[in-house]
Amino acid sequence: MGNGRDNRIPVRHEGRQTYVHVLMVEEVLGKKLPEGACVHHLDMNQRNNNPSNLVVCENQTYHMLLHRRAEALKACGDANKRKCWVCGKWKPLSEFYLNKRGYPKICKPCNTLEMRKFREKNRDKYNKYQRDYRAKNNSSEGGVTRQLSPIL
Ligand SMILES: [Zn+2]
Ligand SMILES: [Zn+2]
Repeated sequence: MGNGRDNRIPVRHEGRQTYVHVLMVEEVLGKKLPEGACVHHLDMNQRNNNPSNLVVCENQTYHMLLHRRAEALKACGDANKRKCWVCGKWKPLSEFYLNKRGYPKICKPCNTLEMRKFREKNRDKYNKYQRDYRAKNNSSEGGVTRQLSPIL
């Protein structure tokens, strides 16, 4: 992750295409990496293939969690915090509403603000609709008075 570039070092070993860090881990484990498992670089440097820099993740989901925690730790000093997509602030998970897929995206204060904006936008739309309606049905302001006078 980081700059988004793939800095892994590919190698060919015993007729298969793999990576230096995979071989390192397999060497330490004494067996092949299990299916679906991946290797994480603790210092986020994919070229630092020292065994002490490598962590085996059972799957990509866990691997991504490590990346998110490392990113949070670097950004705000707390691996448990999440970044709000709206205000960009790092906050604890309890400060978030989870979206449909269970991910925190927007913090509670931002959510409240966004909802207010949404309502105001729609109120403007409603007011405009009302104005247009009146303009169409009454040629002058007097039309409103006429509407309000009792029907004889
Ligand atoms: Zn990684
Ligand atoms: Zn926010």
